[in-house]
Amino acid sequence: MCLLLLQSYNNMGTMSRCTGWCLLQSDPHGPNPGAEYRRLLGGGGARRHPQSAQHPPAGQWPLVSYPGADASLCGMAATGASGTNAVRYGTIRDNVLNLEVVLPGGQLLHTAGQGRHYRKSAAGYNLTGLFVGSEGTLGLITAATLRLHPAPETTVAATCAFPSVQAAVDSTVHILQAAVPVARIEFLDEVMMDACNRHSKLDCRVAPTLFLEFHGSEQALGEQVQRTEEITQSNGAFHFSWAKEAEERSQLWAARHNAWYAALALRPGCKGYATDVCVPISRLPEILVQAKEDLKASGLTGTIVGHVGDGNFHCILLVDPEDTEELRRVEAFAQQLGRRALALHGTCTGEHGIGLGKRQLLQEEVGAVGIETMRQLKATLDPRGLMNPGKVL
Ligand SMILES: Cc1cc2nc3c(=O)[nH]c(=O)nc-3n(C[C@H](O)[C@H](O)[C@H](O)COP(=O)(O)OP(=O)(O)OC[C@H]3O[C@@H](n4cnc5c(N)ncnc54)[C@H](O)[C@@H]3O)c2cc1C
Repeated sequence: MCLLLLQSYNNMGTMSRCTGWCLLQSDPHGPNPGAEYRRLLGGGGARRHPQSAQHPPAGQWPLVSYPGADASLCGMAATGASGTNAVRYGTIRDNVLNLEVVLPGGQLLHTAGQGRHYRKSAAGYNLTGLFVGSEGTLGLITAATLRLHPAPETTVAATCAFPSVQAAVDSTVHILQAAVPVARIEFLDEVMMDACNRHSKLDCRVAPTLFLEFHGSEQALGEQVQRTEEITQSNGAFHFSWAKEAEERSQLWAARHNAWYAALALRPGCKGYATDVCVPISRLPEILVQAKEDLKASGLTGTIVGHVGDGNFHCILLVDPEDTEELRRVEAFAQQLGRRALALHGTCTGEHGIGLGKRQLLQEEVGAVGIETMRQLKATLDPRGLMNPGKVL
C-alpha cells in the first residue's frame, strides 16, 4: 500500500473538541510532507471529520465518517469499531498504530511507545491490540495515532437488487471469492431498502439490495465493475445501477449511513434496538437467511443491514419501551442471533461490543479459560475496578 507521511499537531489548540469535529491539520513543521499516520486527541471531541474532502492529497482515513451516531475516534478505538470501508481498508483494529491511555492508577501509557508509528513490530506484547475493543474497562484512551491510506484515483458506486436475501448474499461471497477488491459491499433487506427510500428520498427497487463501491484507477475499475456485474447477474440480480458522479454517490452512502434513522421512522415513538453478529464469510448466506426467518417468526418490526463484505450484519429492531413483553422478545431475538453466530464459528458481535447485554455470550464465545484470562488482565490493570465496572466481564 502506498503511504505518505505527515505529522499532525499534538496540540489541543488545533482540535475542535467542543463541537465534536476533529480538524485534521498537517504539521507544517513535520519532518516529512507525506502522510502515513495522524495522531488525534480523543475523548468525546474527535468526531466525524470530513476526511478525504479536507485533505485529498495527503491521504484519507476511511473509517471515520460512519460508525454509529457520531462516534468519537477514541470511542471507536475503545469499541473496536469499523465502517463500511472495512472490507478494503480493515477495521479500526487494523488502522490504529498507537494509543495514549490514562491507566486507572493515573499513569500515562503509550501502547506502542511514545511517538512510535511503525508498520510492524515484534517487540513485546501488543498493548495497542489489548486496548482496542476494551470498552473503557482498562483505561481511558486520550489520543490515537492512525494509519492513513491514499485517496483513490477513481471511485464508482452501484446498487444492485436481488430476488432474495440468499441471492444477494451469495453474490457477496462470490465477489469476495473472485478476489474483486471491492471497497464497500453493504446489504439491505427489502424492509431496510423501503425505509431508506422513504427517509432519504431514493427510488431504489424495494428488494434485498447490495450497495457497492470500487476504488482504483479507471482501468482497474472497468475490470472490477465488469466482473461484479457478471457475478451478480449469474445470481439472478434484476437491477443494476451505477453511480459515478460524486453527488450521486454521496446521496447513496448518506442514505446508507442514515439507515438507523430510516428504521426508526418505520415505527414512530418506538426506540431502536441494534444488535450485530459476525461470521466467516462462507457461513453468511446461512445465517442471514435464518435471521430473516427468525425475524418474521418473532412478529417484531425490524430491518437487516450489514457490512456483508466482513461477514458482519446488524438487526435494527423497533420496540415500544413501555411494552415489557415486546422488549423481552427483542432481547431473546438478539441472544438467539448471537448463539446462531457462535454455532457457525463466528462472534456474538462484530462491532457493537459486549457491554452489559452480551456478557453471557462472551463467556460462551471465549470459554472459561478465555474469560479467566480477561479477568486477570482486568484485575492487574484496574485492581480497584474503577473502569466501567460490570461491563464486558
Ligand atoms: C445507529 C448506530 C449505528 C452504529 N453503527 C456502527 C458501525 O457502523 N460500526 C461500528 O463499529 N459501530 C457502530 N455502532 C456502535 C457504536 O456507535 C460504535 O461502536 C462507536 O465506535 C462508539 O463510539 P462512541 O464514541 O459513540 O462511544 P460511546 O458510545 O460513547 O462509548 C462506547 C463504549 O466505549 C467506551 N469509551 C468511549 N470513549 C472512550 C475512551 N476515550 N476511552 C475508553 N473508553 C471509551 C465507553 O465507556 C463505552 O463503554 C453503531 C451504533 C449506533 C447507535
